[in-house]
Amino acid sequence: MKTGRGRLAVATRADTHCPYCALQCGMSVDADGAGISGRDFPTNRGGLCQKGWTAGALLTSPHRLTTPLLRERRGAPLRPADWDEALDFVATRLRALRARHGADSVGIFGGGGLTNEKAYLLGKFARVALGTSQIDYNGRFCMSAAAAAGIKAFGADRGLPFPVTDLGEADAVLLAGANVSATMPPFMRHLRAAEAAGGLIVVDPRRTPTAEHAALHLQPAPGTDLALALGLLHIAVADGHADYAYLAGRTTGFDEVWRIAASWWPERVEAVTGVAAADQRAAVRILGEARRAYVLTARGTEQHAKGVDTVSSWINFCLTLGLPGREGSGFGCLTGQGNGQGGREHGQKADQLPGYRKIDDPAARAHVAGVWGVDPDSLPGPGRSAYELLDALGTPSGPKALLVFGSNIAVSAPNAGHVAERLASLDLLVTADFVLSETSSSADVVFPVTQWAEEDGTMTSLEGRVLLRQRALDAPEGVRTDLALLQGLAVRLGQPAVRFPAEAETVFEELRRASAGGIADYSGVTYDRLRAGEALHWPVPGTDHPGTPRMFLDGFGHPDRRARFVPVEHTGPAERVDDRFPLYATTGRVMQHYQSGAQTRLVPELNDAQPEAFVEVNPDTAERFGVQDGQWATVVSRRGEVRARVRCVPTIRLDTVFLPFHFPGAQRANLITNPALDPTSRMPEFKVCAVRLVPA
Ligand code: SF4
Repeated sequence: MKTGRGRLAVATRADTHCPYCALQCGMSVDADGAGISGRDFPTNRGGLCQKGWTAGALLTSPHRLTTPLLRERRGAPLRPADWDEALDFVATRLRALRARHGADSVGIFGGGGLTNEKAYLLGKFARVALGTSQIDYNGRFCMSAAAAAGIKAFGADRGLPFPVTDLGEADAVLLAGANVSATMPPFMRHLRAAEAAGGLIVVDPRRTPTAEHAALHLQPAPGTDLALALGLLHIAVADGHADYAYLAGRTTGFDEVWRIAASWWPERVEAVTGVAAADQRAAVRILGEARRAYVLTARGTEQHAKGVDTVSSWINFCLTLGLPGREGSGFGCLTGQGNGQGGREHGQKADQLPGYRKIDDPAARAHVAGVWGVDPDSLPGPGRSAYELLDALGTPSGPKALLVFGSNIAVSAPNAGHVAERLASLDLLVTADFVLSETSSSADVVFPVTQWAEEDGTMTSLEGRVLLRQRALDAPEGVRTDLALLQGLAVRLGQPAVRFPAEAETVFEELRRASAGGIADYSGVTYDRLRAGEALHWPVPGTDHPGTPRMFLDGFGHPDRRARFVPVEHTGPAERVDDRFPLYATTGRVMQHYQSGAQTRLVPELNDAQPEAFVEVNPDTAERFGVQDGQWATVVSRRGEVRARVRCVPTIRLDTVFLPFHFPGAQRANLITNPALDPTSRMPEFKVCAVRLVPA
C-alpha cells in the first residue's frame, strides 16, 4: 500500500516492539508515529519504561537525517549529496584503498541494535563484497564475556536459556551487576515473587534503585566479584547446600574448582571484597533453601578484563547449587542491547559465521560458502576484536577506511580520546545513521537510514525468542534501509544485486539456510510463523519444530551433555589504586538514556530529566577531595579526564565513584575508562579504573 509520511504502512494501528533494549517490550504505534502504547506481551505485560513511551519522538524528530552527507576532503564541511553520488564516492574510495593496501584495509563496525537481517548481511558484505577479515561490533563491549563463559560451561550461549516469565515463579534471585530497575523497569515485575519472599539479592558496589528492592544487598569493591563468587561456592559446600547428586550426574570438573574455592573462606572474602561474612552466608542460605532459584549476571560483573573468569565463577557457584538446566531454576545473563542476542549469532563478529558458527571451522566455512555461492577458500579468517580494530585504525597494518553501522563509537568505546584520534587518522570514515551522532559528525560520508518502525526485520530478545518487527510507517523521503545501502555498495563493488537482497524477508530466508545445523539454528523460523504470533525460541531446526523455550533440561551443549566447571583464580582489577589515583570509578546507565545517548538525548522529555553527566560520590569522599554536591568536578584517570556534576550519595562505597556513560564531549565517561582486554572475550575493562577527583 502506498502511503504518505505520517500514515501507517500496514494498518490503522501497528503492533511492534520497542527500539531500545533486549527486553523488546511489546508496543503499538499509531498513525503519526508519536502515539505509543504498551501492549500485552510476555516480557512487559503492557508496561513500558520512559524510553519506550517516548520512542516515537525520534520518528518525527527535527534532527532526523534525510539526505546523504558528504565531505570532499578532511577539514571541509559536510554537504548534502544524492544517494548515487555518495555511493559512487564511497565505492571509488574503497576500490582504490583495496587495490593499494589489500582487502583488510577496509574495516566494518556493526552494532547490537541491528536486526538479524542487517547483522547477517553486514557479515556477508565484509567477507564476500570486501573480502576483509576486519569486522566486529559493539556487542563485544556488551555481551562477549557472558557469551564466552556460557560456551565454556554449557557449550552454548543464549542469554536466558529459559523464558523470562519463568523468573516470576522464583522465590530467590541473585542479580550480579544488574540494575534492571533503571535499565529495563518492566523486568522488575518478573522479580516480584522473589522480592515478596525475601529472596531478592543484589550484588552491586552502588545502592542502585534495584538494590532498594533487595532483601540483601552485597556491595563488593569494584573488580572483586570473582572472589565473592568463589566465597559463595565455599559456603555452599561448607554449609551443606551443594547438590552432590547433580554434580555427579550433570557436571564435570568440580574437584579442580573446589581446590581453589576451598581457600576462599568467608573472612578472607570479606577482607578482599568488603562484603560481610554473615551477608555471604545469608545469600547462600537464601538461594540454597529456595524451591526455585536463579543467578543472573549483567554488565556490572561482566565488563572487566577478567570478565569471562568472573562469569565462570558465578556459573561454578550456580552449578554447585544444582540450578542450571533444572526447570524452575537456572543461570542466565541479561542481554542489554535490543538485538544483543541475535546480533552475536549471525556473523558481524570477527570470529564468526552465521548460526553461531566459528569462522576457523572448515565445515562451517564450507556450509556458509555454499549458501553464499562462493569458494570457501575465498572467505577471510578471523579479524581483530572491536577495541583492537579501533586501536589499529590508520596504523600501517590497520584499516584505512571504516564503515560504521548502528554504533556511536566516539562516545561508547573505551579510552574514547584515543579512539577519536584513530578515527581522525582514517582515509575514509562512513556511517549509516538516522541522526547526526558524534561519530557521524566526524565522518566523510553519512547515509541516512530507516529506523525501527519504518522497516521490516527480526530481533532476538534476551530470552532467545525471535520477534518480527514489521514496518509500521513509511520512512521520510530520501531515507533508505541499511540493506538497500549494502546492496548499493555491493553492486558498485562488482557483486550481483541478487546476492545482497534489499528486502528483509528475502535476507531472512537466506539466513535460515545459513544458520541451519548451527548452534543458533533459525531454519524453522519463518516470517509467516512469526506473523501468526508463534513464540519461537532458538534453536528451531525445522518448520514443524516448536522452538526451544527451555534449553539444557535434557542435557547441556557439550558432546557429553554435561556442564563444565571452569577453574578460575581471583586477580583483581587490571589497574590498582595508588596515591595519585586513589578511587575506583565505575560506569553504567540511567533510566532515561540508552547506550551512547545519541538517540535518547534528542528526546526532549528524556534529556530534560537527565541532561548532563554526573558523578556519584559518598559525602565523606567528596569532603576529602574538596568537591561539593551540585558543583562540577573533574574525574581524572591515567588516560584522560571527564567533567561531571557531583551528586553526593551516602550509600555508595567510600572508595568508589560512579558515572553514567551516555554523554558526549568533555562529559564522556569513556575518556577515563581502561581498555585492558579480557584474554578470551576481548571485553574491555569498562567497570573499574583508578581515578582522583578534582574540583572544577
Ligand atoms: Fe522495554 Fe527496554 Fe524499551 Fe524500556 S527500553 S520500554 S524496558 S524494551
